[in-house]
Amino acid sequence: MDKRQLLPTARPAYAYANAGAALALAAALAAASLAPPVAQASPGPSATAPIMPIAAPRDRPYPGQIELSVDATDVLHRVYHVHETLSGVTRDSVLFYPQWLPGAHAPEGTIDRLAGLRFSVDGVPVTWMRDPANIWAFRVRVPSGVSTLRIDFDYLSPTRDDVGDLEVSPDLLMIEWNEVVLYPAGYFSRDIPVRVSVTLPTGWRFGCALDVDHTDGAQTTFKPTNLATFVDSPLYAGRYTSRVDLAPGAAVPVHLDLFADQPDDLTMSASELQGFRALVQQAYRLFGSHHYEHYDFLLSLSDQIQHSGLEHHQSSENGSYAHFFTEWNKYAFDRDLLAHEYTHSWNGKFRRPFDLWTPDFNVPMQDSLLWVYEGQTQYWGHVLTARAGLRTLPQTLDEIADFAAYEQSDPGHAWRPLQDTTNDEIINPRRPQSWRNYQLFEDYYEQGALLWLDVDTLIRQLSHGRRSLDDFARAFFGIDNGSFVTVTYTFEDLVRTLNRVQPYDWARFLRQRLDSVGPLMLDGIRRGGYRLVYTDAQSDYQRNVDDARHRVSLLYSIGVTLGDGERPGGIIEVLWGSPAFQAGLTNGARIVAVNDLAYSGDVLKDAIRSARGARTPIELIVRTGDHYRTVRLDYHGGLRYPHLERDTSQPALLDAILAPRP
Ligand SMILES: [Zn+2]
Repeated sequence: MDKRQLLPTARPAYAYANAGAALALAAALAAASLAPPVAQASPGPSATAPIMPIAAPRDRPYPGQIELSVDATDVLHRVYHVHETLSGVTRDSVLFYPQWLPGAHAPEGTIDRLAGLRFSVDGVPVTWMRDPANIWAFRVRVPSGVSTLRIDFDYLSPTRDDVGDLEVSPDLLMIEWNEVVLYPAGYFSRDIPVRVSVTLPTGWRFGCALDVDHTDGAQTTFKPTNLATFVDSPLYAGRYTSRVDLAPGAAVPVHLDLFADQPDDLTMSASELQGFRALVQQAYRLFGSHHYEHYDFLLSLSDQIQHSGLEHHQSSENGSYAHFFTEWNKYAFDRDLLAHEYTHSWNGKFRRPFDLWTPDFNVPMQDSLLWVYEGQTQYWGHVLTARAGLRTLPQTLDEIADFAAYEQSDPGHAWRPLQDTTNDEIINPRRPQSWRNYQLFEDYYEQGALLWLDVDTLIRQLSHGRRSLDDFARAFFGIDNGSFVTVTYTFEDLVRTLNRVQPYDWARFLRQRLDSVGPLMLDGIRRGGYRLVYTDAQSDYQRNVDDARHRVSLLYSIGVTLGDGERPGGIIEVLWGSPAFQAGLTNGARIVAVNDLAYSGDVLKDAIRSARGARTPIELIVRTGDHYRTVRLDYHGGLRYPHLERDTSQPALLDAILAPRP
């Protein structure tokens, strides 16, 4: 049911009826109490302002269509000019700007970027008001007898990264269609026809999962679709592009569409191309199905715009570093992105949690099963990247060590169950946190991946190697081959399929791991034939992550992550309860000196090495604003970096999981 139907439409009568009794009770309590009486000239406010009803979405054909024309040529101002003709309107129409976005799982619509809004009929302006109780709804007084409304507005894409993630540069742009459309309330989004054309800067090429109807100069018109598919099919465009066939000769085309800052950044080696083609084949071998008519990986290689990752049914938005291909070894850590977003075509878009599917973009979503939607996708993202050869086995083990160590050291697990973290995108749409490891943040990704590794190794162990989570993936996501009509599921559906693969008390197993608090167990890694250990040597893989993110990781020794590059020594994160925490370090401060030497990452690492086994503390000078203080870190454990070490008492199940499927 649509939540809006539950809201009162008028002031409830009981508020008046009970006011007199409440006043009498308050007077009696005041008289009986020894506390001084409260001055009270009236009973105080009651009830709430009336809320005007908005029609709940119904599954019925919309008696008109959205005709949209988007002018995306003004890349210097980063503004999209939108002209929309909406037929089928009635006298008191309510139009929505999309609020709840699939993939974001949260009310992250960009209504703060909408400006210059005008409604008109045959050139005559029509008055409008924003719904006072719902800022995403516009009430338009359409003249009687009129059924077609003209809507014009501008979408102001962020001009600086403190406004929002950058989407437009002089060389490339991305359009998420939910940013540039108003749609009528009262209908399922799949029931609203849409026809769209877009004008791009001259000479630019684009990638988009929508089918092209015709092109006229810089303007492209797409074939008619519906609002749900339209919003699910974003467009990337750019000056420097290339289109790579990832499934040559296949009946169902899969392409990699590249958009770069510079033409040189588009260069891909034969073995890299082989890896991405293998990714498609390994996904088919895993799921035994596809749920698209064609698929486009949209990949921006840019240091000018955001690095996005957003799933769609027939495409995905991927963003990485400008030199993703040209400095291939450096960015191994970022290579699971494409496998993750691709997996979502099966897990997330085709199979979707029952409480996450919504009929339009303004009905609230519920995120209770994100540990499947995101957690298992995170798992397959790493597994498929390894199976495709896009990461070596040692690189994958370093990656798993990295997130397993972070998850296991998070003190937040002592109070917060995994299940509760599924609310995080709604609680905090990816704003920085003061104490991330104590608060936790979207742990259903990495902790979810560890949970599915736990399930996978357990199925393999219980079935004596005959079955695995691959069988679950095929049984759960491989149904309805070729169809991209979403099929929803519940927790019980999940448990039923797991039981078909391998009988076990999966409901209890999962609920225990989802609902309990306490130290995180790494049973999947142990059963996989490995153990998490710490040594004083950082792997090349982890050093590349630090370099790319301009940081120095010392989280598992003194308990801090520090900035590098433009802000050396700036404290990014302090592990709650760590030696650094005990010494009073807090993020936002900056280490300026170490044992009387000017700070550098290497100076601090040397000091940690020298303090090992010694008795004297490491002395830091720390600056917070204009305030300097000396901090003595009584830490003598040396440098500590996480690794997975082979445990030969167990079979190497993890190696088998990560090996390519024939
Ligand atoms: Zn995801």
